[in-house]
Amino acid sequence: MKKVIITILLIIVSLLTIQSLFDDDIKNVEYMVDDNIEIYYPKFENSQIDSYINTYLNETIETAKYNFNDNFNMYIDYDYYDNDGIIKLKFYQNVFSNNMEVKKTKIFDIDTKTNTVNISSKDLEYDIYYQKPIDKNKKMIAFTFDDGPNHNTLKIINTLKKYNASATFFVLGSRIEKNEKIIKLMNEYNMEIGNHTYSHKLLTGTSCTEIEKEVKKTNELIHKITNTYPRLVRPSYGSFNNKIRKSVNMPIIIWNIDTLDWKYHNSKRIAKKILSKVEDGDIVLMHDIYSATASAIEIVVPKLIEEGYQIVSVSELFYYKNIELKNGYVYGNAR
Ligand code: ZN
Repeated sequence: MKKVIITILLIIVSLLTIQSLFDDDIKNVEYMVDDNIEIYYPKFENSQIDSYINTYLNETIETAKYNFNDNFNMYIDYDYYDNDGIIKLKFYQNVFSNNMEVKKTKIFDIDTKTNTVNISSKDLEYDIYYQKPIDKNKKMIAFTFDDGPNHNTLKIINTLKKYNASATFFVLGSRIEKNEKIIKLMNEYNMEIGNHTYSHKLLTGTSCTEIEKEVKKTNELIHKITNTYPRLVRPSYGSFNNKIRKSVNMPIIIWNIDTLDWKYHNSKRIAKKILSKVEDGDIVLMHDIYSATASAIEIVVPKLIEEGYQIVSVSELFYYKNIELKNGYVYGNAR
């Protein structure tokens, strides 16, 4: 009997020792659970820092309620490490409904000495949005729209949404300020927002500093509205050289089907061009600023769906084709 008690005591003592070894790491884990929400987060017992985290979690829940009409599941947990009082806290967010899944990450840099929290924007963090019904074994093409946004963009988004399709909009920084609402809507409707420089000048003759400025300015404008940095860039006129590749330091997306919508403003011609050329893995170039393009989308989307195509954004296309997009590399299709 004594032996048993001693063994049990030894086990308890050793468990307590193990516990205290990891105490710093585990004592603050909080857990929030609801019917459809499961969240793990750390509690710092510091009102300033805790309020940052609470705000983030509450905003995330509110956004999901809004985007998914209360019909969603949410799972959030985190990765945490302490580097001499500077804590890096990375939240992983996963929200899904019947037909859509949103994955996001959010980084907090917390300085426990000064109680300051920086929500990190140095890393080019991006969100992965994808619609669950995408079948990687079925044909797919990416639609891309340059030079917007303007009022025609809304028409295009509506048509895409109607058919559960997506696209990448390479927006101009100079057009963002007047059209913040459209950028917001693109984000809410899970359209991908790409960078098409700030002023649309030809970059091949410009300096590295100028190229960086053109790209960075637009990245920051998009981030300010959507809280997300664009992942992809399309240089103005699709032109690139080694200097541009190095300076933008993002994946460069060009195209392999040019609809020439800017030249002809003819919706039937645009639709015909796409339908006669299309193959699995293509990237189509259009411009969302023209009425003819918006009308062409209404013709072409149902026909492509009929032919078994899925219309997706560039990131979705490469994700489902299992092709990694690398910074400074140029992609014209996903084959
Ligand atoms: Zn352009």
